[in-house]
Amino acid sequence: MTAPVSPDPPDQYRDCRGCISWVSGMTRGVAGRMLLWILVISAVTAVMATSVQLFFDYRRDVSDLEQAMRYIEENQLPGLAEAAWNFHTDALRVQLDGIGHSAWVAGAMVRYGPSQTAELSTGNIHVTQAEVLKFPLLRHVGTKQVLVGEIYVAPNLSNLYGRTINRIAVVLSTQAVKSLVISTSILLLASGMITRHLTAMAQFAKSFEPGKPFAPFVLRRKRQAPHDELAVLSDGLNDAYGRLYAAHQFEVRHNERLSEQVAQRTAELREAHEALAKLATTDRLTGLANRLGLDNAFARELVRAERYGKPLAVILTDIDEFKQVNDTHGHQAGDDVLQEFAAILQREARGSDTVGRCGGEEFLILCPETDLAEALIIAERIRLAVANHTFAAIGNKTSSFGVAALQQSDTEASLVKRADQALYRAKANGRNLVESEQAA
Ligand code: GH3
Ligand code: MG
Ligand code: MG
Repeated sequence: MTAPVSPDPPDQYRDCRGCISWVSGMTRGVAGRMLLWILVISAVTAVMATSVQLFFDYRRDVSDLEQAMRYIEENQLPGLAEAAWNFHTDALRVQLDGIGHSAWVAGAMVRYGPSQTAELSTGNIHVTQAEVLKFPLLRHVGTKQVLVGEIYVAPNLSNLYGRTINRIAVVLSTQAVKSLVISTSILLLASGMITRHLTAMAQFAKSFEPGKPFAPFVLRRKRQAPHDELAVLSDGLNDAYGRLYAAHQFEVRHNERLSEQVAQRTAELREAHEALAKLATTDRLTGLANRLGLDNAFARELVRAERYGKPLAVILTDIDEFKQVNDTHGHQAGDDVLQEFAAILQREARGSDTVGRCGGEEFLILCPETDLAEALIIAERIRLAVANHTFAAIGNKTSSFGVAALQQSDTEASLVKRADQALYRAKANGRNLVESEQAA
């Protein structure tokens, strides 16, 4: 069963999804870690540089504040002392407001009059606060200095802190924007120049499959310098891939050769085995079945005949007075006669019969699905064929036949024995005869 195929999304979504996957691809892996490190390093550097700068700015502001206080002390206290001496409240007020207008002053208060019971203040001041500065108002009377009042000045520390905080905010936000722009640019450059090529190479390396045709990796940009690392890497990758491919091809060819050799050796072995099996069951002189071959055929046919209740007959034949052939014409002529005799048997027997040489000049024909009467007819036909044949070396020669058919509880030996007895009778009765077992 195949999974349902979702329809393709519209182009704008596909673009958007491609964009998101490109960005998420960039922010993962090497480029992402680079971005993170650049951000961390630039943040630490920014904090350190900002701290140093702010420290010096703060020191300068503190110095400005101290200078402002000194200015009040040196330039404005005599005027205030004079106004306090004369109880000139308006003048005191004007001068006090003047002090209060300074950016470095949060508020100021003057105490004057007998026992400093009169008070004038400007801005925001609480005399109990620790940072409040207190100055005596002294007036020269003759050679003496007389205390005519006191002035309390509250330095504008919030101005100091505010300036510092503003500076921190400006410097940090500028650094943050700078870092972001620089790191994004580096990320884009790294991705465009390195990461995408590395990713393509990784995909190329992963795509290797044994047997797949070799197509070299192509770097999708121009070679930039003689020692361009990506080009060198890409060449190395192609080289490795090429070697791997060649090794695989070699292995495939080698395996094919081995398989061919194995198949050839197996065929040769089978042929040798078959030849050996044939040799073991074949008579060398006549090419007919030998004793073993006849035994095999007997075993096969006896089982079949018994299982299916079919008749089975044997014809045993022996060349008459064969010894004379050897004696008169030599052993070779005897061999030739045996071969011609075997050929006649083979020709006259039916395809389903098994013709074999029992030994010497004695032969046996095993006739499946043949009863005694049919076997006698076949034996007679063969006898005539032999008698009418002219042997090349010796002319005419006859043979005798003994025929027997399978009976219940017969074995190969008992069946052949009855045929042998019939053959014996044929010899005894004058040779060139067919004798049946029933004639006994
Ligand atoms: P009979 O009519 O009673 O069968 O007489 P016979 O001479 O054929 O019988 P006998 O068994 O006495 O002789 C068989 C001879 O067959 C003896 C042996 O020299 C010869 N003979 C056996 N095997 C071979 C063989 O492979 N080649 C040749 N040339 N002669 C063989
Ligand atoms: Mg004989
Ligand atoms: Mg014999």
